[in-house]
Amino acid sequence: MSGVFLTLNAGSSSLKFAVFERDTTSAVPMISGKITGIGENAVFYARDSQGRALGADLPETLDASASHEQVIAMLLPWLENHQSFGSLVAVGHRVVHGGQNFTKPTRISDAVLQQLQTLSPLAPLHQPHNIAAIHAVAHWQPDLPQIACFDTSFHRTQDPLAQAFALPRDLTDEGILRYGFHGLSYDYIASVLPDHLGPEAEGRVMVAHLGNGASICAMKGRKSRATSMGFTALDGLMMGTRCGALDPGVVLYLMQAKAMDAPEIQDLLYNKSGLLGVSGISNDVQVLQDSADPHAADAIALFCYRAASTLAGLLPSIGGLDALVFTAGIGENSALIRQGICDRLAWLGVKLDAGANAANATRIDAADSRVKTLVLPTNEELTVANACRSFAF
Ligand code: AMP
Repeated sequence: MSGVFLTLNAGSSSLKFAVFERDTTSAVPMISGKITGIGENAVFYARDSQGRALGADLPETLDASASHEQVIAMLLPWLENHQSFGSLVAVGHRVVHGGQNFTKPTRISDAVLQQLQTLSPLAPLHQPHNIAAIHAVAHWQPDLPQIACFDTSFHRTQDPLAQAFALPRDLTDEGILRYGFHGLSYDYIASVLPDHLGPEAEGRVMVAHLGNGASICAMKGRKSRATSMGFTALDGLMMGTRCGALDPGVVLYLMQAKAMDAPEIQDLLYNKSGLLGVSGISNDVQVLQDSADPHAADAIALFCYRAASTLAGLLPSIGGLDALVFTAGIGENSALIRQGICDRLAWLGVKLDAGANAANATRIDAADSRVKTLVLPTNEELTVANACRSFAF
């Protein structure tokens, strides 16, 4: 059996994993899966490259108190014992924050790990879990090469203007910048754009990564020129439970007039706002689409309005729009939200073909649309596996 790469994507309460063969360029992993509900009621899913369920030999639910490290400690030997696993060559990690210095995938050493730890305050809900996954692998096999792939790296091609806040210069120099996120997803989409757009892939393209976390990236020459997330993954679009861009005066008001402290405000803005907060029902678009409650419709309408206005705000970075790509859970599956966003972009020459949109087709623009509009499934795991390949283990 040939060598394999394992990719790990550790979120706040979930862990996604995928196993790719070293010597093929197949976009389909040999094994993939996720563990959700870590810390509450962890549930394990795994499937093979044919989509067949695996993991019957694992407990259906894991101990409520199992930490990320314990979950990984259970997963790694299970994978190793799996007959199609092969010999593990390297582990690639999605790491949310690479700061200003990590502009490409990086082999993890003690020194790198120390630097990643200093970035934790910039992504407190994500970075510590990414680091925990790295520690768990190192504990299991200390000599196994590990590669960190950063969600921020793809955006380091931006003009400094697109990365700056209008804050005093010393704060900018200290690193209070617009970093941007979802870079592994944008990197993958940039890599497949030529397959769908030919030479126009190099033109002015907006990619809307709309999942539970959501952002938009303005690309030209398939490079990031501006993006809606900023210093943290809280900025920009309205999301599942995050508020997106907010007048900072609201935060001051919450502190001063409502005496809320930082953890309370953090919880409000990250976990109780967005689609969940506005609807009062759910952060799940499928639930909201099926609900007759007018607050569900309000939440979807605000999501679409905010997405269209944010996209419009990114246009100066690329000077117009040739193509628009929707990706991630909502972008790939919700015809209603794509239509709601595109209706508000009609003035830019965006016009959908209703049938193609309803079918989640790859090309969804109408014949007379000026802007080519696509639905492309993202594949962050493949970006990580390809980064491992680039190290030629
Ligand atoms: P992600 O974070 O990329 O996994 O995306 C999660 C979001 O995608 C959730 O809001 C889901 O409701 C949404 N989603 C997934 N499948 C569908 C679907 N078939 N129709 C509408 N929304 C969907």
